Amino acid sequence: MRAFRFIAVFSVLASFYCCSISAQSSFTIGTATAAPGQKSTGYLEVPAGIDPATNIPVVVINGVKPGKTLALISGAHGTEYTSIIAIEKLISAIDPAQLSGIVILVPLVNIQSFELKVPHVNPVDNKSMNRFYPGKADGTQTERASFLITKQIIDRCDYLIDYHGGDLDESLRPYAYWGPTGREEQDRLSKQMVLAFGLDHIIIWRERPTDPAATRYLDNTASVRGKASIVVEAGHAGIVDSDDLSLLVNGSLSTMRALKMLPGDPHPIENPVWIEKLEDVLSDGPGIWYPLVKRGTYVSAGMKLGTITDYFGKTIAEPRAPVTGVILHVNAVPSLKKGDNIADIGVPAAHAP
Ligand SMILES: [Zn+2]
Repeated sequence: MRAFRFIAVFSVLASFYCCSISAQSSFTIGTATAAPGQKSTGYLEVPAGIDPATNIPVVVINGVKPGKTLALISGAHGTEYTSIIAIEKLISAIDPAQLSGIVILVPLVNIQSFELKVPHVNPVDNKSMNRFYPGKADGTQTERASFLITKQIIDRCDYLIDYHGGDLDESLRPYAYWGPTGREEQDRLSKQMVLAFGLDHIIIWRERPTDPAATRYLDNTASVRGKASIVVEAGHAGIVDSDDLSLLVNGSLSTMRALKMLPGDPHPIENPVWIEKLEDVLSDGPGIWYPLVKRGTYVSAGMKLGTITDYFGKTIAEPRAPVTGVILHVNAVPSLKKGDNIADIGVPAAHAP
């Protein structure tokens, strides 16, 4: 890390002495260094510790005009494919000649999950890569990666978007999370971001950890450190659908317009469904799942969501909706074990925040 810092300092001096004097300088994340007007790829090098090292791909796009720094991070869950491919599209779609400021893109945090097709966790240490922030320099691979992302990206950005979607076993309708902090200017900015992104269901995520040493989630780590941040989710069950992909790509570009990083007008959502409460429906045993509802279905409290049978076909449970609301995601596959999430139901807020 010290070596990269030296390179960054050197290139600042070089641009000062040999080129026209400019307020801007090159910007380095991991092994990727981009001068103004450039796009550069490289890796965040997570060193080996009690388990193997890993290299997380990173892209720096340095705009021709000065401005703020935005981090776009995807693939903490490496089989939420739509969100990963959306970042791939953005890497080519963002033109440094049009850009004010800097965009840091991380298309795939959890490489082993992607390559081995393991949902939810990093198969190296069996940990979710969106639960261990701000990370630990001497922890397992997930914790060391989270530590590096906190130091190298979160601490150096102004805004952050964390991309997710339905995992291999989740049939999900698109939605965003907005986590107000009580800090007026930051909340105004993050709300502007989530509206500009344009997803039509927005979960108001209150009651999150506020201790900077135990922030748990990526976006919350940025948020607690004073950076406006949101989470966006689209895609489902291993399928990369062009509608879902467009939502994430166009939403990102619209948010960048709202933040004045790209020219043009954003297309904010005017009347989103604000969700004030989430209810998980969990399986109380193993079995085979036969759903009666789809992602996006509105259900009344008490309505049957589906049937669970044993391996002989005998009905052993009929889970029902605990609240009235919208199915944000429902288990997409027949397999269920005890404690699995059968569905998440969002309860619409009585008033927009
Ligand atoms: Zn995820």
